[in-house]
Amino acid sequence: MDPFLDFTQALHKTARSMAGPNTSDLMEKIVSLCKRRGFIFPSSEIYGGLNGFWDYGPLGAELKKNIRDRWWEDMVRRRDDIVGLESSIIMHPKVWEASGHVGGFTDPMVDCKTSKQRFRADQIFFSPVVIGGSTAGYVSVLESEWIAEELQEKAEALKRKKAIQGKLDPVQPRDFTEARPEEIPLVPSPATGEPGSLTPPRAFNMMFETWVGALRDESAIAYLRPETAQGMFADFKAVLDTGRVKIPFGIAQIGKSFRNEITPRNFTFRSREFEQMEMEYFISDQDDWQKWHRYWIDWCRDWLLSVGVPESSLSQYDHPKEKLAFYSKGTADIMFRFPFGVQELWGIAARGDYDLSQHAKFSGTPMTYFDEATKRRYVPHVIEPAVGVDRIALAILCSAYCEDQAPDEKGNLETRVVMKFHPRIAPIKVAVFPLLKNKPDLVAKAKETRDLLRPHMTVFYDEAGAIGRRYRRQDEAGTPFGVTIDFETLGEKGPELKDTVTLRDRDSMKQERIKMGDLAPLLLEKIR
Ligand code: ATP
Repeated sequence: MDPFLDFTQALHKTARSMAGPNTSDLMEKIVSLCKRRGFIFPSSEIYGGLNGFWDYGPLGAELKKNIRDRWWEDMVRRRDDIVGLESSIIMHPKVWEASGHVGGFTDPMVDCKTSKQRFRADQIFFSPVVIGGSTAGYVSVLESEWIAEELQEKAEALKRKKAIQGKLDPVQPRDFTEARPEEIPLVPSPATGEPGSLTPPRAFNMMFETWVGALRDESAIAYLRPETAQGMFADFKAVLDTGRVKIPFGIAQIGKSFRNEITPRNFTFRSREFEQMEMEYFISDQDDWQKWHRYWIDWCRDWLLSVGVPESSLSQYDHPKEKLAFYSKGTADIMFRFPFGVQELWGIAARGDYDLSQHAKFSGTPMTYFDEATKRRYVPHVIEPAVGVDRIALAILCSAYCEDQAPDEKGNLETRVVMKFHPRIAPIKVAVFPLLKNKPDLVAKAKETRDLLRPHMTVFYDEAGAIGRRYRRQDEAGTPFGVTIDFETLGEKGPELKDTVTLRDRDSMKQERIKMGDLAPLLLEKIR
């Protein structure tokens, strides 16, 4: 498929891929608000965009920075047992041989020979259509929250089209990796709806390759990292040798990762360039890994609540034992209810000593820990909470989006779009408005207020347009507080009101009068 898409196409594609029988146009509204207000837009849009790559505009960049800063603060700075790391994006290619990525970081890929579209085989679901005990054909759909319902609808449509009498059996969804060879030509392509054009699945390695140095031969091949985690394993010894850490301890990192995803989709949910926040928590080989696994699942869940992700949108998925990698002891995903379905947000994996042992084997460097108390040397085990900054940003955007009714300038109720970000994570904390822009005294006082607050938080100064419209713009940006400088502030309505301002709360739209001097401490308390 052509990787170059213009924004309108990308938008429609995103909206279409999200639409299910029961969804509203919520996701389309969120995508368009992100574009309109400067949260997120397609990368290199002036050239038509590049599929799977996104840019964060002024508000999006602040939102992401707040997510990163908050995580780093809670995960690293406020703890004695976790240290930070910033490893390089391009590492020695042997790292990726040891980790298993060169050999096995693949997704099963399927081509549609007619439409030239590519799919991930595990995202195509199909079922035989059984009528009166015999198979009348096959139906297929792309992964969504309503796979069985959509397949059933298609099965009924096929029955009507072929005018076959008899009882239609309930569909039996399977993904395309489970298709038997004789079924492959019979399953319709999700692109054309016709059977016969899908190829059998084949392994596609998702690592981006590049060359290091002047020569472009096999020996110069290197990879853009597909995860940040291997930096922590490869540097385990170096961090240990600094002498600051004792088991149990963790190494945390935030950074870009790259995966040549076969089907980037659902807006930023599955991108080809994205940012991860990962932490490797090293424990003793004799420690109770389940206790630590539970601890980190709870920690991640609590952290999400602390940045305003509602508990009601979260759930937990424990990977069944038979689907785990051979070295894995257990993996739990914290799932989030996106408008396009319940999907993985944060994975918490108990990986045993696999990664350190592999690096010891491939590098010849022992990856062991010496316990002074017991005089025992061993390879530590690891618990890994891994999450994408972009996925958290998307979950926060989806959680924050809200429509309510608010009076316009003439007092008539109108629909108000408001992003109800937690003040801690909101891109702009406070907006400052002079009531009128053509009154120099009001403007001067407003700028004084802006400068008073600026050292403490992100402030947006806005003097353009009617005050109601300025409030609405900030509601869409998710700014929790608005401060208006009016004639009372100047002392024109009595000396007792001089140097007081109105403070407006985004969610309740209530306004109260506050002394200018009290503003900074009051707001700081609310945003921390
Ligand atoms: P999936 O099965 O969805 O491809 P994964 O289980 O391979 O994802 P991990 O390798 O565990 O994902 O990555 C850890 C986290 O990084 C994920 O929980 C997710 O938040 C984020 N992440 C992974 N791939 C992407 C991507 N293509 N775009 C955005 N975020 C991603």
